[in-house]
Amino acid sequence: MTGEDPLMNETVTLKIPAKINLSLDITGKLPNGYHTLRSVFQTVGIFDTLTISKTAPDQPMMLTCDEPAVPCDARNLVWKAAVKLLGEDPCGIAMHLEKRIPSQAGMGGGSADCAAALLGIRKLLALPVTDAQLHETAGSLGADVPFFLRGGTVLAEGIGEKLTPLEPIPAYPLVIAKGAEGIPTPEAYRRLDALGKALPADTDSVLGQLQNGADALFSCCGNHFDAITDLPEVLRIRQVMREHGLKPVLSGSGAAVFAGCANPARAQTCADALKAAGIPFVTVCRTTAEGIRF
Ligand code: ATP
Repeated sequence: MTGEDPLMNETVTLKIPAKINLSLDITGKLPNGYHTLRSVFQTVGIFDTLTISKTAPDQPMMLTCDEPAVPCDARNLVWKAAVKLLGEDPCGIAMHLEKRIPSQAGMGGGSADCAAALLGIRKLLALPVTDAQLHETAGSLGADVPFFLRGGTVLAEGIGEKLTPLEPIPAYPLVIAKGAEGIPTPEAYRRLDALGKALPADTDSVLGQLQNGADALFSCCGNHFDAITDLPEVLRIRQVMREHGLKPVLSGSGAAVFAGCANPARAQTCADALKAAGIPFVTVCRTTAEGIRF
């Protein structure tokens, strides 16, 4: 007898952060249609939770979610992660997802959950998969998935696959808001291509200001997709943030908008105004150096 709780080895629970892009420069388009980019990814304190439990070895995998709009079948990236590790008809586990990261937001919710499923299934079933193999599997599931295996502050280059970890930044306050409407990523890229003009790059400025305090950093954040995003709710969010003296920046290809704010009380006042303006998702949180945690 070791005194260990026998259920401890039967279930793992993972706390999964979202991300924002402190900068997102689209630098070109390859002949295969992929866009090249330079971006500083940053994990933030909005968390999904994934619980994975062992079931009978021959019982087909089950996935449940507290958010009815999220598909609980092979379309879910968590399911796809399980298939990569366990084969086409995975058995012996049940997974439950609690969604707090908004969808179609550019905050990497699906990708983050996917990375969590890879880490969680490997641990629960003690699979002989190395970190390097898991990283490669993550890349095959989506461009943003490898980032979430680590989290923190990371420079992404190439088509997003070249990741350079950066010094963690202090926990800076943020307001993040998203309207009911999302922007499909392919549509956002189409609009950017159609724009046909070079946009100023922000990544080098962001890299230079990461350790210089919230005001310096958030004044130079920027995102090329801001130039092509005109959803009415995004316009309203930008207006309210500007009225509070903050700089609104889109995350990913949208449609979440964030603004850094050195003063948490001012961030809360801005968040209250966004809620009063009818924006359905509004939160005040902080940047975090943490990645996915068990
Ligand atoms: P990104 O920041 O990578 O662009 P996103 O903001 O578009 O992501 P996601 O949360 O990844 O948002 O969801 C996009 C779509 O993917 C959803 O509409 C949903 O149908 C599907 N999806 C697949 N797996 C998940 C998941 N685990 N959580 C949420 N949505 C998922």
